Amino acid sequence: MKLQDKVALITGAGRGIGAATALRFAREGATIVACDVHEDDVRQTVRDCQDAGATAIGLAADVTDRSGMDRAVGSILARFGRIDVLVNNAGITRDARFEKMTEAQFDAVIDVNLKGVFNAAQAVVTGMIERGRGVILNASSVVGLHGNFGQTNYVAAKAGVIGFTRTWCRELGPKGIRVNAVAPGFIRTPMLDSVPDTVLTRMSDQVPLRRIGQPEEVANLYAFLASDEASYINGAVIEVTGGLRL
Ligand code: NAD
Repeated sequence: MKLQDKVALITGAGRGIGAATALRFAREGATIVACDVHEDDVRQTVRDCQDAGATAIGLAADVTDRSGMDRAVGSILARFGRIDVLVNNAGITRDARFEKMTEAQFDAVIDVNLKGVFNAAQAVVTGMIERGRGVILNASSVVGLHGNFGQTNYVAAKAGVIGFTRTWCRELGPKGIRVNAVAPGFIRTPMLDSVPDTVLTRMSDQVPLRRIGQPEEVANLYAFLASDEASYINGAVIEVTGGLRL
C-alpha cells in the first residue's frame, strides 16, 4: 500500500474529488482526517474510509477561518502526532461574466480557493519543517492555465494556486517538503450539478477522450503524488483533463 502509516489531511472531503481522494488514500493505508464545512457530508466520508479499513476522523472546519484551521491542525497533532500530507482540495465557484461579477462573488471565491489554501498550508507547514518531511498538494484547475469565460474569480484563484506551488516548492524543497498542484479538467462532481446537460455534452465533445472525468481519476493522481513513488516530483502542475485544451 502506497500510503501506509501516512497521516493525511484532506480539505473539502465531504463530497466530490475530496471524498474520492479520502477513500483512495484510505485504501492505500493512510490515516484520514477529512475536513469540510458540511459536517454531515464529512461523516459519510469518514464512514466510507473506516469501512475500507482505515483510521479516519472528520473535522468540521472552514478553510477561510485561519484560527479555526490552526485549532484543527492542533487537534490533529495532539491525536496523531504529525500530518504527512495536506491535500488543499476545498473549492467553490461563483460564476459571472466579468462586467457582472459582484465584489461578494469575487471575494468568496478568492477566500476559499486561494486564501483557504494559504491558511491550511501555513497551519501545517511548521510541523512539516520540524520533521523535515511532508507533502502539500494543491487543487488548481485547467482554467487556471488557460482562463475561462465567466470565471474571473475562480481563474485568478486557480492561477494563484500555481504561483503558491512554484514558490513553496523553492522555499520548502530544501526543508524536505514537496509541493505540487493538480489541474483537473471537467470532472463529474456536485460542482458541475448546476451545469445544464447540453453544456456538459458540449464540454465532453471538447475533450479528446470524449468524456467528463471521474473524481477517482483525480484521486489516483493525488495518491501517487502523496506517496514516496513521487519522491522527485516537486513544483509540478499536473493536468488530469483527458487531453482537454481550452
Ligand atoms: P465539490 O463542490 O463537489 O466539493 C467541494 C467540497 O469543498 C465540498 O464538500 C464543500 O463543502 C467543500 N468546501 C467548500 N468551501 C469550503 C470551506 N470554506 N472550507 C472547507 N471545505 C469547503 O467540488 P469538486 O468538484 O470535488 O472540486 C474539488 C476541487 O477540485 C476544488 O478545488 C475545485 O475547484 C477543483 N476542481 C474541480 C473540477 C471539476 O470539474 N469538478 C475541475 C477543476 C478543479
